[in-house]
Amino acid sequence: MMRIILMGPPGVGKGTQATRLKNYFKIVHLSTGDLLRTEIANHSTIGKKAKSIIDQGHLVPDYILLDMIEKKLQEIECKNGYLLDGFPRTIPQAEGLDKLLDQLYQQLNAVISLYADEAELVHRLVLRGRESGRSDDSPEIIRQRQNVYWDQTAPLLDYYRKQDLLQEVNGIGPVSEITDRILKTLA
Ligand code: AMP
Repeated sequence: MMRIILMGPPGVGKGTQATRLKNYFKIVHLSTGDLLRTEIANHSTIGKKAKSIIDQGHLVPDYILLDMIEKKLQEIECKNGYLLDGFPRTIPQAEGLDKLLDQLYQQLNAVISLYADEAELVHRLVLRGRESGRSDDSPEIIRQRQNVYWDQTAPLLDYYRKQDLLQEVNGIGPVSEITDRILKTLA
C-alpha cells in the first residue's frame, strides 16, 4: 500500500516520474492538472471556470481542488493506494487533505519533493511547450507558474517536513536514475 505525494516546481518531471511510480506500485496516478484539462476539454462548469485561470498561470480555487480530490479518493480504484501529482499546492489544500485523510482513516507514506535548478526547468518547459502545445507553456506564463510555486506551494515543504514525511530528491539526471533515487527513499 503506497500513498504518495509528488511535489516540485513546474517542469521538474513530476508527470514522467508519476507514470513510472504508478506502474511500479500498481497504484492510481491522480494529476490535478490532467483532471482540470479533462474538465476543460469536456466544457464542464469546472472546466469553464478553470480555463482562463490556468492559461494565466494562476491557481484554481482551493475548494474546487478539494472537492475533486475528495471524490477521487473515495473511488474504489484508490483503495490500493495512489500518487498525488500537482496536489496539494497551497497550505489550505494540504490542511483540507489532512482532514480528508483522517475521515478516511488513511495515512500518507511519503511526500517526495523533486528539485532542480530554475534555469533548467524553464528550458525544459519551453521545449515541452513546443511539443505538447500546452497553452500555459509559453515563456511568460512559465515564469508566472514558477513564481506561484515559490510563493504558494514551496511553504508545503516545511509543512510536510514537520510531519516527518518529506523526502527531497534531485530531479536532474536520466529518467530511470531519478526513479531509482525515489524508490530508494521509499524503501
Ligand atoms: P500541472 O499540470 O500540475 O502543471 O497543472 C496545470 C495548471 O492547473 C496549474 O498551473 C494550475 O493553474 C492548475 N492546477 C493544477 N493543480 C492545481 C492545484 N492543486 N491547485 C490549484 N490549481 C491547480
